[in-house]
Amino acid sequence: MDFRVLGGDGGVAVGHQTTSFLLNEDVLIDAGSVATSLSTEEQKKIEYVFISHCHLDHVKDLCFLADNMFAFRKTPIQVLSIKDNIEILKRHIFNNEIWPDFSNLSNGTSNILEFKEIEDGAKVGGLDVQIFNVNHPVPAIGFIVDDGNSSILITGDTGPTDQIWKEGNKRANLRAIFTEIAFPDSQEFVAEAAGHFTPKTFQEEMKKVTKKLPIYIYHLKPSFYNSLKQEIDKLGFPDLYCLQLGDKLSF
Ligand SMILES: [Zn+2]
Ligand SMILES: [Zn+2]
Repeated sequence: MDFRVLGGDGGVAVGHQTTSFLLNEDVLIDAGSVATSLSTEEQKKIEYVFISHCHLDHVKDLCFLADNMFAFRKTPIQVLSIKDNIEILKRHIFNNEIWPDFSNLSNGTSNILEFKEIEDGAKVGGLDVQIFNVNHPVPAIGFIVDDGNSSILITGDTGPTDQIWKEGNKRANLRAIFTEIAFPDSQEFVAEAAGHFTPKTFQEEMKKVTKKLPIYIYHLKPSFYNSLKQEIDKLGFPDLYCLQLGDKLSF
């Protein structure tokens, strides 16, 4: 499974783009930067977009992906998430006021988006994607993605949580963990209120993980980026990396 970072920061600033991970060529986890980071030719290959939650930093580029693909789709791009999130997207963004309802708009051949409610997960593009509720101020899910050989765990935005770690601990073929740290330790109060980790609360959380695996951190807030990265480096985890824009990994 190929994994490409289209954006992995907790906000937008020069050199910083928000969360969007491309799996192989056709599956997206979150759509924070898909249109910003991919050529239109690459955007044409996307068939499935999983949405962890509807905060703007994870969904904004779904608008521009749909718009860019308006003339080209022969079948709709499937947008997959739990019922709550599909309803939020339809009600607040694709409502023909903020943005056209591309799930009800045809180019003559096809609608552009198809919203799909999922309960446990979905098998798409050769990947088995299972979903788990996580701890964020809005309905939010994390993912375990399995291509039959390897699986990876992506928490999405979350504060302390349990279920996804329990499931990850059971997976014999789990190769890597992707999780977030958004704020430095000095901002623990803010991090807790916003449903995010600091280096300290992340360190505590990792006691729930029984496997020794590479851990990839994302969602650093641009306004704290350098000092936060130093705090993360100081944790002294042996296999801990902060994801960078454009990183390409393979599992
Ligand atoms: Zn969020
Ligand atoms: Zn976020």
